[in-house]
Amino acid sequence: MTGAATVVPYAEAVGRYEPVIGLETHVELGTVTKMFCGCPASFGAEPNAAVCPVCLGLPGSLPVANRAAIEYTIRIGLALNCSISSWCRFARKNYFYPDMPKDYQISQYDEPLCTDGWLDIAVDGAAFRIGIERVHLEEDTGKSLHVGGATGRIHGADYSLVDYNRAGIPLVEVVTKPVPGTGALAPVVARAYVTELRDVLRALRVSDVRMEEGSLRCDVNTSLAPPGAEWGTRTETKNVNSLRSVERAVRSEIERQAAVLDAGRRVVQETRHFHEDSGLTTPGRSKEEAQDYRYFPEPDLVPIAPSADWVEQLRATLPELPSARRARLQAEWGLPDLDMTALGNAGALDLVADTVAAGASPADARKWWLGELSRHANDAGTELAALPVTPAQVARIAGLVASGALTDRLARQVLDGVLAGEGDPDEIVAARGLAVVSDEATLLAAVDAAIAANPEVAARIRDGKVAAADALVGAVMKATRGQADAARVRELILRRLGQS
Ligand SMILES: [Zn+2]
Repeated sequence: MTGAATVVPYAEAVGRYEPVIGLETHVELGTVTKMFCGCPASFGAEPNAAVCPVCLGLPGSLPVANRAAIEYTIRIGLALNCSISSWCRFARKNYFYPDMPKDYQISQYDEPLCTDGWLDIAVDGAAFRIGIERVHLEEDTGKSLHVGGATGRIHGADYSLVDYNRAGIPLVEVVTKPVPGTGALAPVVARAYVTELRDVLRALRVSDVRMEEGSLRCDVNTSLAPPGAEWGTRTETKNVNSLRSVERAVRSEIERQAAVLDAGRRVVQETRHFHEDSGLTTPGRSKEEAQDYRYFPEPDLVPIAPSADWVEQLRATLPELPSARRARLQAEWGLPDLDMTALGNAGALDLVADTVAAGASPADARKWWLGELSRHANDAGTELAALPVTPAQVARIAGLVASGALTDRLARQVLDGVLAGEGDPDEIVAARGLAVVSDEATLLAAVDAAIAANPEVAARIRDGKVAAADALVGAVMKATRGQADAARVRELILRRLGQS
């Protein structure tokens, strides 16, 4: 393999060369039926059970476009600030692949449904506007399963199986314009773009956007050139299937291409595969040009001609998009940019929003999710959202602290109980006996006992050395097993000794 080329350390690579990135994202739409037939578009059926003559490409079958898929695509285009074509056609993209029964894919070529939009993202406080070249609609292919080899690839396999259930599921491709000017941030910008796009698609409810299941897949284009020079030759890293891998794939290509350019060689235009284990890319096939596919307008389908009225109706029903929601929540919560960025990076925005909706103050909700709960998630090696605690439970714990029923220390114990599956906060407070000792008589008894046991300290306090009260507070906290409010205890001690 030629993929063993040496790499240049990242900081050096971006010191000598300017990266230009581009992203092509495929999104499986969550429609009930497939793109051109009535077969169910859901996952999980027995192999080759969700098929019919149309999606198997049998002779005489004719496709009919799924109106819901067209509607979803227009909604995506509108959310990405695109122009919506008033008339466009599907095209045949001709090539052979065993998981594509018709030997062509119905796609869109020179007449995409949505064109020329943008998506704004923020990285480390810097704003980037990512241009959207096009959003077009096509059908997915089936799936091949290569059996017997070590890698799951066709090389070395004994035989291959084909499942056509996925063939014909509506697929939207979102293609960015080339993104120059990101410098060393290129990998992070790529990741931030895919993250924001995923969140937009989720808000639109057009897809379940699960990268690990392939309903959101990303091809990452990367090129390098010396500053001021014409853009370099790009490579296309295929089917990168996690947000982290998007970032790593760009970084890896920058390090590799810099070594190629340093050696005075040319970067080959090709597709490359990203390997999760090594974080490196290896060459795939050399890149086809559009003319290789012999595109022509699909003769079996009528053109798509969405009326201006329909488009405006869809625009009017767009949901609040993630960027607008973030801005609104930030204004409502009064949190600084840094906190909002931290919430976003931690995947805690929705959790905090739900916790605030359940009655906690924004500051408390932020504190719990970014503090104690983030620590638990780190320790468990899991996402915040996967922790076995609900926003309502977090809000209840925060409420118990705010009302004085729990100290911070006791509240952390209650949280431990919730995470251990012991029940709701109130049940745990009762079962573990964690309530703050707030009964005045009990507290005064403990205060008097502490004074009696420490006569010299008490005398100093009587003489006005109130700082000495710390020792007595400590004694009372010990006597109440930490279940008293220290500030209240201090007040009682000073009152008892004539200092307030
Ligand atoms: Zn079908």
